[in-house]
Amino acid sequence: QVIRCRAAVAWAAGKPLSLEEVEVAPPKPGEVRIKVVATGICRTDDHILEGSFPDVDFPVIPGHEGAGIVESVGVGVTSVKPGDKVIPVSLPHCGECSFCLNPESNYCLKSHLSEPQNLLPDKTSRFTCKGKQIHHFLWVSTFSEYTVIPEYAVAKIDAAAPLDKVCLLGCGFSTGYGAAINAAKVKPGSTCAVFGLGGVGLSVVIGCKVAGASRIIAIDINKDKFAKAKELGATDCLSPRDFKKPIQEVVTEMTGHGVDYSFEAIGLADTMIAALASCNMNTGVCVMVGLADSGSLISIDPMLLLSGRTWKGTLLGGWNMRDCIPKLVSSYLEKKFNSDLLITHTLPIAKVNEGFELLRAGKR
Ligand code: NAD
Ligand code: ZN
Ligand code: ZN
Repeated sequence: QVIRCRAAVAWAAGKPLSLEEVEVAPPKPGEVRIKVVATGICRTDDHILEGSFPDVDFPVIPGHEGAGIVESVGVGVTSVKPGDKVIPVSLPHCGECSFCLNPESNYCLKSHLSEPQNLLPDKTSRFTCKGKQIHHFLWVSTFSEYTVIPEYAVAKIDAAAPLDKVCLLGCGFSTGYGAAINAAKVKPGSTCAVFGLGGVGLSVVIGCKVAGASRIIAIDINKDKFAKAKELGATDCLSPRDFKKPIQEVVTEMTGHGVDYSFEAIGLADTMIAALASCNMNTGVCVMVGLADSGSLISIDPMLLLSGRTWKGTLLGGWNMRDCIPKLVSSYLEKKFNSDLLITHTLPIAKVNEGFELLRAGKR
C-alpha cells in the first residue's frame, strides 16, 4: 500500500522547494501514516532551506507545524487508529529515556538535539521520489500530503478541532504561548517586552496577555506588525529604527528599571543581547526563543547576569508536546486564546514557495 502523493521537496540548500510526486511507504511497526490536512510555515523551515539548520540531510521534505488524520498504523500501535485527528510533534516523547522520565523535561533524548532525525528510528526513510530516497525532517515532514512518523511523535487531538486552524499549535503558537506561560511564568500585573512579531512573537504576546501582564512592549523593525500586536494585547509598539539609542535603553527608561520578562523571537545575536539587557537587572527573566544560525556565538558583559538576571531558552515553549498539545487544542476549542488571528494567508500546497516569499517579506 505505497501511497503516491504530492510533497514539497528541498533538493539542496539555497534552492526553492519543488513540488513533486513522491511515494510514501506504509508504516512499519510502531509507526503511523498520516494524511496531512494543513500545515503552517515556520521560520525554522526557512532556516532549513537556507542550509542553516544543523544536521539536516538533503534532499528533505520540511514542514513541522501540521495537523492531519491517521490513515493507517503499523503493528503494535495502540494510542491512535485510522480516522483519528492528530498533530505530529517535532519534540517526541518515547516515555523511556532519562529525559522523558524527568517530569521537568519537555523532550526526549530521541529528539533532533541528541541525534539527527533525517531518517526514522530504524534508520530508513519512508519517502522516495524519482527513485531517490528523500529524508524526513524532525520525523514530521508536514510538507507532504502523507507522512510517516513514530507513534511517540503523534499527539491525538479532539475530533472537533478544525485542522486548518490548530495546525499552528504544532509549533509557532505553542512555542510563543508556552515561552510566556511555562518558561517565563509571567505573573499578573507584570511588564513584558517581546522582540520580533512573527507568528512566534505574536504568540508570546498572547501568552503574556492571558497570564495577566499589565504592560506588553512589542518590538519589531517592520511596523506593519504593530496593528496585529495591539489587537492581541500589546500596549506599546516600538521600532528600534526610530531611536538613536539602543532599544534596551529605551525599554529600560520606559519602565524605570527594565521589564520583568523579555523574550527574543527573532534569532539574532544582537537582539538576544538587547532582550537580555531590557529586563530588570536583578529579578528580570529573559527567554530566548529565536533560533540563531548554527555556529553563531554571543558575547556579553558578564555583569548582565551577575546582577541577578535569569537568561534561559525554550524549545516549543516548554510543553511536553505529546501530553500538552491535546490540552492546548481543548483550550483553543474553549476559546481561551484566539490563535486564528495569527493566520494571514491560506494557500494550496502548490503555492508553498509563495508562502515562503510572504514569510520573507514579513507579510505573515
Ligand atoms: P518570523 O520571521 O515570522 O518573525 C520574525 C520577526 O522578527 C519579523 O516580524 C521581523 O520583522 C522581525 N525582525 C527581524 N529582524 C529584527 C530586528 N533586528 N529587530 C526587531 N525585529 C526584527 O519568524 P517566526 O516564525 O515568528 O519565528 C521566530 C524565530 O523563532 C525564528 O528564529 C524561528 O526559527 C524560531 N523558533 C524557535 C522555536 C523554539 O522551539 N525555540 C520554535 C519555532 C520557531
Ligand atoms: Zn517551528
Ligand atoms: Zn524519551
